[in-house]
Amino acid sequence: MPGRSRHLSINPGLGETDLLHVLAKSWPRGFTLRPRIPMALIVQKYGGTSVGSLDRIRNVAARIRRTRDEGHQVVAVVSAMSGITDGLIRLAKDLSANASEREMDVLLATGEQQAIALVAMALRDLGVDAASVTGRQAGIVTTGSHTRGRILALDPALMRRLLDEGRTLVVAGFQGVTSEGMIHTLGRGGSDLTAIAVAAALKADVCQILTDVDGVYTCDPRVVGHARKLPEISYDEMLEMASSGSKVMQSRSVEFAKKFGVVFEVRSSLNDNPGTIVTEEHPNMENVVIRGVSIERSQARVTITGIPDEPGMTGRILSALGEAEINLDMIVLNIAHDGFARISFTMHSSDLGRAQAALKRVLADISAAASIETEAGIAKLSAVGIGMRSHSGVAATMFQALGDAGINIGMISTSEIKIAVTVDETRIEDAARAVHDAFRLDREPA
Ligand code: ADP
Ligand code: ASP
Ligand code: MG
Repeated sequence: MPGRSRHLSINPGLGETDLLHVLAKSWPRGFTLRPRIPMALIVQKYGGTSVGSLDRIRNVAARIRRTRDEGHQVVAVVSAMSGITDGLIRLAKDLSANASEREMDVLLATGEQQAIALVAMALRDLGVDAASVTGRQAGIVTTGSHTRGRILALDPALMRRLLDEGRTLVVAGFQGVTSEGMIHTLGRGGSDLTAIAVAAALKADVCQILTDVDGVYTCDPRVVGHARKLPEISYDEMLEMASSGSKVMQSRSVEFAKKFGVVFEVRSSLNDNPGTIVTEEHPNMENVVIRGVSIERSQARVTITGIPDEPGMTGRILSALGEAEINLDMIVLNIAHDGFARISFTMHSSDLGRAQAALKRVLADISAAASIETEAGIAKLSAVGIGMRSHSGVAATMFQALGDAGINIGMISTSEIKIAVTVDETRIEDAARAVHDAFRLDREPA
């Protein structure tokens, strides 16, 4: 197949995924600290807080140099300094009520570009022959919409050449270019995706996501102080946790890692403690019923009543929301009464205004009896674990814990490995602690 050894093609169906399973094989189970391979190629991703000040940037440079001094090649993927991306978004909003997404991408990509230049400078001060590499130079080709680009392909030819020259690379996270050369960003937290994709394309021996916590915990340690760091977690659990609010990893990056077999470790950029290995599940993992608990704030619920009980109605309503690019989360359709059905769904509260506008248009066509009720100020709590597949009574334990804590449940949704509920946003932290304690997640599993 042309380009087989050089191109990472992420399009499903192109049959190139097999060559990307190398990473999984090169990671002996239980591996936590240092690669056993004497001269490994290591991808290290440093998030915004890890490069949040000049001192932190010097710390990152020292860490990269240490890894180099141990004989390894390093490709560091770097995020914008903390606060920079948010600051740029604010700036654009203050300037214009309808900033174009194309220009938002051009603006936001500057955050990472600033960070890679600074990290490369700090490395050069330490005597490391470092080169900054933008998304385009890294060969990251994207598709999809502005501000939500998806990686279509990655041609690592330039990165390989620079590595072969003995250089240490500092790659901009969160950005790529379309085949027409337009700048795309990869969605919030998108540097995680860059790191996983670069590790896959370079067939790196090790991929480390270095952040401001020691690993993936049973719940955000800022919410549950006694949450426990997990030694390992399966892709599916990490994916469910990430997509239900655990922002320690961007959910799309986990999906990507699973698809291409990239085993990675989440660990701290500030100490040498072993982190959490994210990998394919193995039979022992099923012994644990709940691996972790996630929370997601700022949710809103919309309920539509008076929908004629006829085929196609739900499809029309959901299509209108899809066309307005509103991501729905939970969806509940109630059994119809007197010829009318009722549907409720949740979304991020910032989408509520656009959702109402889109719904008014479609409901005017559907029925004069239809009306919309909205409720903001709700949050979602999810309990996740692959052990749910083989253990019963999980929902009962969770609901009882919430009831005992006096917390009312709004909507419920379940998947094979997740139970999620909405609660009043003011009670979400109490809810997380109650469920965490009910499943004794602070204790090592027996
Ligand atoms: P970075 O800037 O390195 O990308 P993020 O802020 O995106 O870091 O992610 C790290 C943060 O994720 C932590 O500071 C923590 O508050 C939060 N977090 C949420 N859920 C979890 C969890 N289950 N385990 C660890 N951290 C979590
Ligand atoms: N700087 C981007 C963000 O804040 C990407 C990242 O940090 O991963 O979302
Ligand atoms: Mg992040």
